Amino acid sequence: MDELLIEARLNEYTPREPNPNVPFAPEEIAQAAAACRDAGASVAHFHARDPETGAASTEPAVYCEIGRALRASSDMVVMPTLGATVSTAIEERFAHILSMAKSPATRAELVPLDLASANTSVYDRGQRSFDNEDSLYENTVATLRALSEGVRAVGVRPIGVAYSVPSLRLVEPLLETGVLQEPLYLQLLLTREGVLSGHPATRRGLDALLDFIPDGVDLEWNVLGYGSNLLELADVVLERGGHFALGLGDYPYLELGTPTNADVIANLVARARAHGREPATPARVRERFGLIGP
Ligand code: ZN
Repeated sequence: MDELLIEARLNEYTPREPNPNVPFAPEEIAQAAAACRDAGASVAHFHARDPETGAASTEPAVYCEIGRALRASSDMVVMPTLGATVSTAIEERFAHILSMAKSPATRAELVPLDLASANTSVYDRGQRSFDNEDSLYENTVATLRALSEGVRAVGVRPIGVAYSVPSLRLVEPLLETGVLQEPLYLQLLLTREGVLSGHPATRRGLDALLDFIPDGVDLEWNVLGYGSNLLELADVVLERGGHFALGLGDYPYLELGTPTNADVIANLVARARAHGREPATPARVRERFGLIGP
């Protein structure tokens, strides 16, 4: 796909310090998404949050409310997290997706499937300590299959998130056994220093992953920079033919002042145009991946 797919990563579980423009409430998320759409993004990725405190919400009703507000305010592709709950029964991990699917007005279209189990302890080099030495994120193949089948049963397409080269080695087996489908939306996770479950957000960290993207698979890849300024890698990603997943959920972008999500997207789009890449519309993304639109 020549056009640039831009996924706006609107909020994650990021606090409003240091950037107060992280959206929490459903209406805030929808307004931020619509502004990102105007700036050139086509996919809205979000997590449900408490409107006041920003605490993580696992409530399917809140996800439905966000879905409804998103659909009402723009034509963006709707992509909630699959990480609303991670430590409970598998069915609960996609309960919010099933609730959203009950109405076209709230339905999700894409969800991220993390193709790894990982040590998620964050290391502080200055303190020489981990934040929590017991932190583990577990995704067995059986879990990935159950999540994939659960969401596909209601017409939602799983994307693959690669944490490392071993994640990429899983891609073909998961395609061959029906857990993933072509064309594949493949996301490459890069992370800031101290977050050891992904490759470093550098040219070398990216290129090591690109070396192991399987040949002959029909896919589009994008890059996610958790805790990292992805704009610093923009030229490299554009040269390599990749797409982007970025926003205030991952990084505050104070290099741009106190930007909104849309400001970050607009900055990327200007760089992309210098490389001759125009942003893809949501309709183009739906066509590429066979998504059921609004
Ligand atoms: Zn997320």
